[in-house]
Order: sequence, then C-alpha cells, then structure tokens
Amino acid sequence: MEKEIERKRVAIIGAGLVGSLSSVYFAHRGWDVLLFEKRPDIRKKENFAKLEKRSINLALSQRGISALSRTGLGLDKLILSKVIPMKGRMIHDLGGNQVSQAYGLPHQHINSVDRGMLNEELVNTAASLPNVTVIFEQELKQCDLDSGSLTFSSPEGQEHHYKVDLVFGADGVHSRVRGEIMKKTRMDYSQSFIDHGYCELTIPPKVLETGETDYEIDPNHLHIWPRHSYMMIALPNLDKSFTCTLFAPLDIFDSIKTEAQLMELFEKDLADAIPLIGREALVKEYFTNPKGSLMTIKCKPYHFKGRAVIVGDAAHCMVPFYGQGMNAGFEDVEKFFDILDKSGQGSGASPTDLSLMESCLDEYSTTRHPDVVAICDLALHNYVEMRSSVVSFSYLARKRLEAI
Ligand code: FAD
Repeated sequence: MEKEIERKRVAIIGAGLVGSLSSVYFAHRGWDVLLFEKRPDIRKKENFAKLEKRSINLALSQRGISALSRTGLGLDKLILSKVIPMKGRMIHDLGGNQVSQAYGLPHQHINSVDRGMLNEELVNTAASLPNVTVIFEQELKQCDLDSGSLTFSSPEGQEHHYKVDLVFGADGVHSRVRGEIMKKTRMDYSQSFIDHGYCELTIPPKVLETGETDYEIDPNHLHIWPRHSYMMIALPNLDKSFTCTLFAPLDIFDSIKTEAQLMELFEKDLADAIPLIGREALVKEYFTNPKGSLMTIKCKPYHFKGRAVIVGDAAHCMVPFYGQGMNAGFEDVEKFFDILDKSGQGSGASPTDLSLMESCLDEYSTTRHPDVVAICDLALHNYVEMRSSVVSFSYLARKRLEAI
C-alpha cells in the first residue's frame, strides 16, 4: 500500500482579505490549510452587513492584482470582471466645477472593488480547494508558538485545540498573533493615531424617466472634494451608487451635533454633494454611521523562529489615503512565497525544516520591512496631497483648459 505523504499544516488566523488569499497560496502548494475566522460566515449577506464596519469599497491597484494573478486560478480575471476602472481623480471645487486629473496614460487606472464581493470570492475559492478547511466563529484565544498548539473559542464558549507546523497571522490591526510574537521576540512596535477620522455616506443611483438607473457623476473617476483641512471622496459601485467617505479632523466631527450644523458645513463647503446624496439621507447617514479612527502601525520583526509570521494589517496598518493597505497585504503574500519557494519550504509535501523555515521568515522580515514602512509613510503624506495639493493643480488645469 502506498504511504500517504504527510502534509505540513498551517493555521491561518483571519479569513479577511489577506488571510483568505493566503489560504489559496498555501493550498496550491499542497499544505493542509486551516483557515480560522472569528466572525460568522462572511459570505452570508446578513452577516456581512451586520459586522462590517470598514470601507464598503476599496481601490485595487496593480500591486494587489499581481498577487491575485499569482494564485494561477484566474482570480485576477474573476475580480477584474467585477470592478469599475477609475482612470483619474475628479476634483470638485467650491463652485461645483469638476476637473479631471488623469492618473497616468489612457490605459492606466486603479479599480473600485466591493470589499464584500472580494472577500466572498476569496473565501469561496479557498473553500473549493480540497486541502482547505474554513472554520468560522472560532476566535484564537491562546497560542504556544514553540509547539504550534492553538486554542480557539466558539461564541458558546467551547474550546477547540489544534496543532500546526506554522501559524500565519492575518488577524488584522488588533492581531493576537502579533501580541504573541511580541512576547517572544525583541519586536519594535509603534502605533500612532492621526487627529482625523472618517464617516461613510452614499450617493444613490439616479433614476431615469424610463425607470432605469444611472450614475449621478462619472463612474470612471475617484471623486475628491478637497477642502484643505479635510476632504470627501467618492468611489463608484456596480449598482450605480457611490460610497463617499468624509475624512475630517475629529474636532469637526465632535462639533457637529445637530442637523443645522451638518447642513451649514455642507452648504458652505460641499454644496454640490447635497443633491447627489439627498438632504434627508445625508442627515440620517451622518448621524447613524460609525465614525472610524485612523492609525499607522509599524513593527519588526514579523516572525518568531520558523513557527509564526504576521501579514497584512496585523503587520502594518496604514492610513487609507494611498489606497494601499489591502494591496500591500496582498503583496506580502506574494513576497512571502517568493522566499519560501526559493528555499524549497513552500511545498506542503516537503518535510518541515525548522531552521530553514526560520531563515526564510527572517529574510521575509528583513526584506519586507523597508518597503512596508515606505508605503505607510507615503500614505500619510498623500492625505495632504489629496485634501490640499490637488486644488492648486486643478486650478491650473482649468485655467489651461479655459485658455484653449
Ligand atoms: P482585516 O481585513 O482586518 O481581516 C482580519 C480578519 O481577522 C477579520 O476577518 C477578523 O475578524 C479576523 N480576526 C481577528 N482576530 C481574530 C482572532 N483572534 N481569531 C480569528 N479571527 C480573527 N486598502 C486598499 O488597498 N485600498 C483602499 O482603497 C483602502 N481603503 C480603505 C478605506 C478605509 C476607510 C479603511 C479603514 C481601510 C482601507 N484600506 C484600503 C485598508 C484595508 O481595508 C486593509 O488594509 C485590509 O482590510 C487588511 O486586510 P487584512 O486581511 O490584513 O485584515
């Protein structure tokens, strides 16, 4: 009788965007993959709507697309068939004029993608692979990184125990895996909030006389209302709506306590957005929707021996102004496997060599850190660019157009 090959086992903590993509990479290489998620099945719409507090749509760029394509399963094509290309910024000035600023050459663009759809497709792909087990409603509570022994708890308080060769922490900004690595290594760690927060609003589709719907504003742009100390942006959705995000100093959010105060701000600075969002909906959404905070997290190293590593927001959280948090997280996975594959440790069928694995994880921490820090810093810088610097450019562009 043929002896069954013993597969290496990885526990991926977090079935968010980065964890679910990682599970496909591991599975493709023959690992026995356990993908754990503390939330209920995010593919069920009622769960997603209830639980998701973060941005509804995201900008997917080449960095993220490359990582999707490297799965070899056509994930890039699948996702790109469900995005809206944004070829430039559309600057809305105080007078309601709109000026387009191209991102690059005519064929170059970023893409607006629905977070729920993307996460769902990634989890569906992972779950369709025979060597992946997706386990929802299991929260990592404890891990002994030396032995790879993990304890999870279900919402009913039941404990479940697993033993794995590698712990892969994709458990987001408040990562428990990062906390465990921190206890065992000389990890440098910094976390800093900015004094600005955000609130999401919606521009619904326009209803035409025929009863059909259309976009209120050009769908192939990322719309920006730059107001120097703050800004609003809008990204298109496939249902012809836009998700707007108002980014502003926390003082502004704190000072708006009544409908009149909200309308005073919008009438003064964002007047053209009022009919797009609708006055009633604007008031309702503003006072109902959560106000999110924004921070940067940097740390190093990302690993413990050959036993555990963190990726995505668990390893680096950045403010969203460069639209690169998820994209960089996807790139983490690509870079991680480049190193693992080169060493031979990428294959789930190759026996675990802890010292080789440790040198791979060490190489990953060392080579990935400078790039990640650069993106975090660029993201902070781009807030100034988006809320202020683009204005003078748009002014010049308009003047140039007027002169033609
Ligand atoms: P997460 O998406 O946070 O997923 C972590 C998962 O782990 C979650 O599902 C969580 O439930 C689970 N988990 C946590 N702890 C445990 C545990 N103990 N046990 C089991 N499961 C656990 N990025 C872009 O690239 N482009 C953009 O345009 C963009 N726009 C953004 C706009 C805003 C307003 C914000 C806030 C962020 C934006 N980002 C953007 C950043 C992007 O959202 C994040 O970088 C991305 O979600 C990180 O993915 P992740 O999988 O690492 O973490």
